[in-house]
Amino acid sequence: MFGEKFKRKYALTDKGVQNVKKGTFWTVIVNIVVMGGVSVLYLLMINLMNILKDNHAVMNTVLIFILLAVFVLLSYITHIQQYTATYGLVYGEVKNTRISLAEKLRKLPLGYFNKKDIADLTETIMGDVNRMEHVWSHVLGYLHGSFISTGIIAIFLLIYDWRLAIACLWGVPVAFTLLFGSRKWTSKASERLKKAAIRVSDGIQETLENIMEIRSTNQVERYLQGLYRKIDEHEKVMIKGELLSGIFVNAASVIMRLGVATTILVGTNLIVHGRIDFMILFLFLMVITRIYAPFDQSLALIAEMFVSQVSANRMMEIYDLQVASGKDTFEPAGHDIEFHHVSFAYENNDVLKDVSFIAKEGEVTALVGPSGSGKSTCAKLAARLFDVTNGIITVGGIDINSVDPEILLSDYSMVFQEVVLFDDSIKENIRLGKRGATDEEVYKAAKAANCDEFVQKLPDGYDTQIGENGTKLSGGERQRISIARALLKDAPIVLLDEATASLDVENETKVQEALSTLLVNKTVLFIAHRMRTVQSADKIIVLENGKVKEEGTPSQLYEMNGLYHHMVDLQKESAAWKVENN
Ligand code: ADP
Repeated sequence: MFGEKFKRKYALTDKGVQNVKKGTFWTVIVNIVVMGGVSVLYLLMINLMNILKDNHAVMNTVLIFILLAVFVLLSYITHIQQYTATYGLVYGEVKNTRISLAEKLRKLPLGYFNKKDIADLTETIMGDVNRMEHVWSHVLGYLHGSFISTGIIAIFLLIYDWRLAIACLWGVPVAFTLLFGSRKWTSKASERLKKAAIRVSDGIQETLENIMEIRSTNQVERYLQGLYRKIDEHEKVMIKGELLSGIFVNAASVIMRLGVATTILVGTNLIVHGRIDFMILFLFLMVITRIYAPFDQSLALIAEMFVSQVSANRMMEIYDLQVASGKDTFEPAGHDIEFHHVSFAYENNDVLKDVSFIAKEGEVTALVGPSGSGKSTCAKLAARLFDVTNGIITVGGIDINSVDPEILLSDYSMVFQEVVLFDDSIKENIRLGKRGATDEEVYKAAKAANCDEFVQKLPDGYDTQIGENGTKLSGGERQRISIARALLKDAPIVLLDEATASLDVENETKVQEALSTLLVNKTVLFIAHRMRTVQSADKIIVLENGKVKEEGTPSQLYEMNGLYHHMVDLQKESAAWKVENN
């Protein structure tokens, strides 16, 4: 019952399955103890009846009261156990699931995030897990436990009087058949609801992210109209879904309770025909007050269990993804980066075709080429942010695809145009380069990266909070922080994406100075956007349409009179044009 299939169906961890087992066990015990209590009450009634009739007690009344007290106590204890086993343990499961999903995402190749919407992933980790929490805590244990205990009680009732037992219990299987039969419609409705919810969160995210553009182009009204439409749609789908499952759940509950009427009908009929004694019907009437109760809790939430299937499937989809794995040791002979006939495609879009080159240790290798020629893609492949489609990339002779990306990346520093900063202090943002670095090491790196001067001018110096994604800093300052990070890390390979956003002259000089400290004796792969800055590179790879067009030192390439020469001339012309227009 609680095998691998069950675990996958409800996206449970191993511990979660154990918890459901515990919840089921205690639910069975609780239900049986309660039924035991009902039986003692019945005994008490019979005793009283007999005393009234012929002054003859069937059993010592005091003993019955003691038994009753024992059952009340047992019921109290078992309810507490059931509560901890169902509600109490589930919070740990929620935490563990979120952590294991996040761990999985951390190990996925970047290509996955390229295809997948981030709002969708957030919805899985937060929304879907929340929805499952209800199912794990309120439904699984209760439902399974109630089925088992009702089965056991049903056997006793059948032995006692099969006619009344059937009259009392027929509604249970019918109600559940109806509910499980309705699944087809309710799960479709919940899928529609999920999609509508994601459209709303996407819309909100998009509006907030682009608020500046939206305002500056006077599009606020149009954008909000679109967003309101999505919210209305979500509401409509939600009401429809609730209505649908409400109808089925209530119908099931009514059918189950029709058992009361049939028991009275069959019972009175049997009494009239002299087949049973009134006390037997009385026993069944007492039982009936409790027999449906265990299902009440789970019945109301069973619709949620069906809806949860969509959530569980979405979680399992993440669990089942192939992670970028590899050896956890990386001992290369030097740090030359070598591309051997590398091809790469983003989904179906071929971006690199048969690219081969070497970026030597201790040298600066510049990648140049028109926009979209594949320069950034080369840099990302070199760090195994994506896996190559064909060919191999080696570092110090080792195929990087055979190394765990996390281990591999400890040998890389990346200074990209899009500097990612966190809403924390400047100090902590730099310390990201090296876990556990001392404050002194952080300050030293900051000084070497020309950060010190602007940081000292900030109100709290290195402790200044920089706001979400560093919105309070200029482009050049952000880039210098990322250089400080890289300096602190001091990795043997540096991947560098030159800033295209025009830095002012002062900032540019400061960034260049900071870089010159960083790049000494490293393997540097440098994505150059301005021809001026590649003059000092040791080697240039010219890419065009994803292929290596030219390769050599700056002077060799200039003499070749090819694409590189042309690009240098073009930039000279545009610089001259700027000067003339000034
Ligand atoms: P460059 O750095 O030379 O400007 P890129 O390597 O960024 O070129 O891009 C090369 C090609 O790959 C472009 O056509 C671009 O549209 C495409 N591309 C880049 N990044 C992605 C991505 N994340 N998903 C899909 N296509 C991409």
